[in-house]
Order: sequence, then C-alpha cells, then structure tokens
Amino acid sequence: MAHIQRKHSLIGVGCWIQGLGLLLFVAAVWLRGLVGIIVAFVILVALFVVGSRLSYQHICSNCGNRVPGKYVKICPVCKEKLE
Ligand SMILES: [Zn+2]
Repeated sequence: MAHIQRKHSLIGVGCWIQGLGLLLFVAAVWLRGLVGIIVAFVILVALFVVGSRLSYQHICSNCGNRVPGKYVKICPVCKEKLE
C-alpha cells in the first residue's frame, strides 16, 4: 500500500507569496503608523498561511506523481490505494 508524501518545493508560488507578504509588511511599517502595522500583519499572516499551503505538494509514494490532496484515497495516476 502506498502513502501520501509531503514534498516541499522551494521554487514555487508559495515562496513568492511569502516574500511578497514580507515586503508589504516592511513597506507598511516604514510608511505608516500603528494601523498600517496591524493591517500589514494580518495580511502577512494570511499570505504566510496561503504561501506555506501552496509550497507543499502531496505526492504518491508509489509513482511520485502529484495527488490533489492529502485525503485522496486512490492515486489518480497509478490507482494505488493510499493510506
Ligand atoms: Zn501513484
């Protein structure tokens, strides 16, 4: 029986989003007062959550192909059952 592996891809959309969030945060701190910092912080957290979700991929341990999510029961490529 195969299982789902989590694969972290460093070069991906996720990293760009996280980088963008960090840049935005620095810009907000530099430009504005407390409100700007709070708003930027909320955006930063949201971007980090989205970014880290996107930078992880779920792959099948049997064939190494990407599966749509971690709750998938059967690999769409090799039809192996996933734990
Ligand atoms: Zn597979």
